[in-house]
Amino acid sequence: MSDSHDFDLIVIGAGSGGVRLARMSAQRGAKVAVVESRYLGGTCVNVGCVPKKLFVYGAHVHDELEDAAGYGWRVPLDQVSFDWPTLVANKNAEIERLNGIYGRLLENAGVEIINGTATISDANTVTVGERSYRAKHITVATGSWPVVPDVPGKDCILTSNEMFYLPQLPRHAVVWGGGYIAVEFAGILAGLGVETTLLYRGDLFLRGFDNDVRRFTEQEMRKKGVDLRFNATIESIETQGAHYQVMLSDGERLETGLVMAATGRRALVDGLGLTELGIELNASGHIVVDDHFQTSVPSITALGDVIGTPQLTPVALAQAMVLSRRLFGDGQGDMDYSAIPTAVFCQPNIGTVGLTEEEAREAGYRLRIYRSEFRPMKYALSGRDERCLMKLVVDDETDKVLGAHMVGPDAGEIIQGLAVAIKAGATKAQFDSTMGIHPTSAEEFVTMREPVA
Ligand code: NDP
Repeated sequence: MSDSHDFDLIVIGAGSGGVRLARMSAQRGAKVAVVESRYLGGTCVNVGCVPKKLFVYGAHVHDELEDAAGYGWRVPLDQVSFDWPTLVANKNAEIERLNGIYGRLLENAGVEIINGTATISDANTVTVGERSYRAKHITVATGSWPVVPDVPGKDCILTSNEMFYLPQLPRHAVVWGGGYIAVEFAGILAGLGVETTLLYRGDLFLRGFDNDVRRFTEQEMRKKGVDLRFNATIESIETQGAHYQVMLSDGERLETGLVMAATGRRALVDGLGLTELGIELNASGHIVVDDHFQTSVPSITALGDVIGTPQLTPVALAQAMVLSRRLFGDGQGDMDYSAIPTAVFCQPNIGTVGLTEEEAREAGYRLRIYRSEFRPMKYALSGRDERCLMKLVVDDETDKVLGAHMVGPDAGEIIQGLAVAIKAGATKAQFDSTMGIHPTSAEEFVTMREPVA
């Protein structure tokens, strides 16, 4: 480290990407500080992936209780009750435990944690409150924040941030949006017994996912009682005591106890002083970086949600590993954004990796499509009317599997395994020569023989 610097690296933001970068760099011998104004672990740990998944588990218990009867268990559903504050309190305790783990991971690696809000004063200086720190490298890893559309009455609208700390559940809720967060929260609320209406501005939600997956998810969510309204949006909201009148674009009024917006997230760059330094932002407000995460100021890098790459924890973690190696390691390694597997934890779950049928056709491939739809075995005795979809998108010329898509129980778990095969360039013939594990749902992925298109 040069004598004129307090640190080799200051990371702004202790979310998934920031913590990983700080730890890895410190383990490589760099003197590192991380500045954080809120909580350790960022969105993922505090108001995102982790608490969401805990809520999803909680919401799913209702289905398990209903299914129990078919297996001989006497569970009088009229005597079953659910206590929301217990779920929130237990979730909070688990998040506090994880916050502690993140703190210890940083401390054990020798990273200094600076609590406060950072401003970048010049290319090598970060100011937090009254103090300024000099660093050879500065990395912005401040993440993203929910966006709420500007409609009259918007002050009453909640986002995912507040939903994790809701004091009580309403009888009815409106969820606005048609992406990951909207469908996941619609599933959570409906599973916990809240009458739920989801409003999406387009013809069909989950834009960007395979069209079969979108239509199938629509059908399954409707079966679970979620009131899905497409080509619908909010014009304004009036507060009436503890309730809200939501005026829709088609003139209809909905009375509800809660309005949640899940209408996207913007890069969290407020107050960092980026524009003053000449750091370029793109039209959507994300920091522009090159392939090595470098901004237009050479000593300042950025990673994670703030640079507009897929807003997923594993992407930020991978970026952090690449950047740490570049700054303090052998400088090797690049990001590979191809075939990123992802799951949407709606009910049932979606899991997907690789190209959708629409993307593959657009790219000019001649395709074979394999598709299977069935009732998972578990529901044979319980009688649950829920189906599972599996789909493979195959390049007819090379036989390579370009994409795998699933809607059904444990879709994320199953697709994670297939992602390795797809990343390795597996062909349909190799899928076919793989033995199934019987009896599972997953075996269907290696037993689909006849293309449907
Ligand atoms: P998304 O970008 O996934 O979805 C935003 C939704 O809001 C879209 O349906 C969009 O419609 C709609 N929308 C945007 N602007 C407006 C507007 N002005 N009026 C009405 N509707 C609007 O964002 P999310 O907030 O759901 O999630 C953010 C990101 O977080 C995700 O993209 C994902 O990367 C990540 N995430 C990942 C999860 C996971 O891995 N399981 C879980 C949760 C989040 P349209 O499609 O028409 O543009």
